[in-house]
Amino acid sequence: MICKNCNSENTQKISLIYEKGTNNISTNSKTVGVGIGTGVVVGSVSTNTSGKSQSLLAEKVSPPKKNSYLLAFFIITIGLIFLVNINELDTKGSIFGLIAILLVGFAIKIIKVTYKYNSITFPKKYMEWTKSWHCNKCGYIYME
Ligand SMILES: [Zn+2]
Repeated sequence: MICKNCNSENTQKISLIYEKGTNNISTNSKTVGVGIGTGVVVGSVSTNTSGKSQSLLAEKVSPPKKNSYLLAFFIITIGLIFLVNINELDTKGSIFGLIAILLVGFAIKIIKVTYKYNSITFPKKYMEWTKSWHCNKCGYIYME
């Protein structure tokens, strides 16, 4: 793939860069250990630096992530605590009930948005990610 920005042929799929980057981190830490043991300090330092910059690039090209339902479940839990304790907490009754209903309603909205993102937007973004390329010359990221 030729870079669409600078026409360089020095390009790579970002999914490959990501896999290589995450592998390199563990490989490099071993190299450093051996380097220090044998006293080849300069060699080990330079290896470490390249590994570090590669892992930064891997971070830059990391795949999209699914959204979590954790916040929604947390809000529902608080809403349920309000509901369960209505009689003990609230002399007026209706206010805590209203808060509970609002919290659960809010949580359902979050769940809907999260579900929509995870089932429609995320697969699209992930597909785009698998088809994306990185130019090693100018750093431009583009689609096939
Ligand atoms: Zn380029």
